[in-house]
Amino acid sequence: MMKKLDTPRPLTFREKQLLLGVLLDGAAGRIKSSQKLKENPSKFISQIENLQVKTYCDCGHSDCETVGFIDLEYYNTEVIAHGHLPDGRWIFVHVLEDTDQIVELEIV
Ligand SMILES: [Zn+2]
Repeated sequence: MMKKLDTPRPLTFREKQLLLGVLLDGAAGRIKSSQKLKENPSKFISQIENLQVKTYCDCGHSDCETVGFIDLEYYNTEVIAHGHLPDGRWIFVHVLEDTDQIVELEIV
C-alpha cells in the first residue's frame, strides 16, 4: 500500500543510482526488460532528474525502499525492467502504459 508524503521531495542520490542502474541494465538486456526500454532508453533515463517522490510504501519492512512518483491511483502500468540487487532483493521500474511516465520504483 502506497501512502502519500505531505511534501514531495527530490530523489536521493541512492534512489537515482538505483533507478539509473536498473534502466541501464534493462536497456542493455542484462536483466528482464521491455522492448520499449531497449528501443529508447533515453526516454526513461531523461525522466530521472525531474522525478519527485510523492508516495512511499507502508509495508513496514525496515529495508523497504519502494517509492512512487505520482499521487494518483496507478492505472494501466507496466514493468519495463526488473532484476536483483546485490543484496538479493528484487527491483522493478513501473511506468504508465500510455505515456511511459515512470510512476514507481519498487524494491522488495
Ligand atoms: Zn514496502
